[in-house]
Amino acid sequence: MNVCVYTLGCRLNQCESEAIADSFAKQGFTVVGEQEKADIYVVNTCTVTSKAEQKARRMIRKFAATAVTLATGCYAQVNEEELKELGENVIVVPLEKKAHLLKLAEHLKASVVAGMDLKQGCLSFSDGRASVFDYDAASFSYHSRAYLKIQDGCDNSCAYCRVHIARGMAISLDHEEVVSRALALEQAGFQEIMLTGVNLTMYDHQGQGLGGLLEHLLPRLSDKVRLRLSSLEPDHIDDRLLEMLKDRRMQPHFHIPVQSGSDHILQKVGRKYTIAELSRILDRLRMAKDDPFLAADFITGLPGETEENFEETHRFITEQQFSSLHVFPFSPRPDTPLFKASDRVPESVRDERALRLRSLSTDLLHTYQKRQVGKEAEVIMQKRKGGYWYGLSGNYLDVKILSAPPFAREGMLISGSFGHVLGQEGKMEFLCNGPTA
Ligand code: SF4
Repeated sequence: MNVCVYTLGCRLNQCESEAIADSFAKQGFTVVGEQEKADIYVVNTCTVTSKAEQKARRMIRKFAATAVTLATGCYAQVNEEELKELGENVIVVPLEKKAHLLKLAEHLKASVVAGMDLKQGCLSFSDGRASVFDYDAASFSYHSRAYLKIQDGCDNSCAYCRVHIARGMAISLDHEEVVSRALALEQAGFQEIMLTGVNLTMYDHQGQGLGGLLEHLLPRLSDKVRLRLSSLEPDHIDDRLLEMLKDRRMQPHFHIPVQSGSDHILQKVGRKYTIAELSRILDRLRMAKDDPFLAADFITGLPGETEENFEETHRFITEQQFSSLHVFPFSPRPDTPLFKASDRVPESVRDERALRLRSLSTDLLHTYQKRQVGKEAEVIMQKRKGGYWYGLSGNYLDVKILSAPPFAREGMLISGSFGHVLGQEGKMEFLCNGPTA
């Protein structure tokens, strides 16, 4: 039987989807992509924007027309009824039961033997012991890098966000469990592990934050493994964490959800830092690593954002020379304080600002790429196409690998140097010296 796990949204969702796919594979299911026919679909949804929700509805409707489709994730959590109405084959799995999906495949095998169809099998299953940290994949069907979930939930309440409503309060996996899962991934041959969570910098085990975890974890991992952090909220980046980022195994890539370059807007939407504080953190990230890839999220058209506030944002981005921007036009989310804001920015203005930032992002990425030509780096090999291997560098650049070793394999870490920027492909050439020693 075939299963397809389709994912929308953040890296945490991707991590959880990988664990779900892995649990099906262990029970003899074939994990397939969305283009192939599956006997059962899992759609892991996101509620960050109305666009993400729209896409979830479209995919669920499409999949449910041919097979039983389990809808889970943040959107499914906050709009269960809406998704149920998308088709007879749709079963909504709320977040508190999402981890049940990890045991579902085993149950389905038995229920099919007992004469039930897949839908009856899904409806008849529940696992009272499931926890938000059960997502522990040992093999990854959709990625060549391993994802390790170490945190869930968030105690902040940013006025535009309903992820914290869907996911609940912050909770963390304890140190020893993180170490044992990371070691298992290393033993399974992964050379890069991404640590993920809803708000990773809110990681806390017995008063030890993310820096404390890295102090505990890094000495236990071999020199061959690299760690990447999914994203870092600025309000919890402390000295201890900054110190640990200097370790050569920490990848020089940081993703910061900045959202606005205007103190007025940041304060209005409940963000817990000022632009001056953020600038100091960015300086220190640059001190921890040589020319790291600094990605940032920005929302355009937050309620009350004036032309002047937007210009402050534009100026801040240009001054800071981020490497790439993720731009989200503001999308009012039900149940959040900004849903009914009276000072809404017209959609045309919001979208025009988003276009300006996206165009700025293209220029910033190109500038960053050009600065890397000739520099040494490490790359994780990802896929082979048209006679070439492609991969991802430690500083998060897509590369086309020239002179790949004959024994190359997906997930292998190689070293070498950046060649030309391949403008049309948006990638860089990478001249490989061989596997990392
Ligand atoms: S930090 Fe803010 S935006 Fe991020 S999950 Fe928490 S409440 Fe949502």
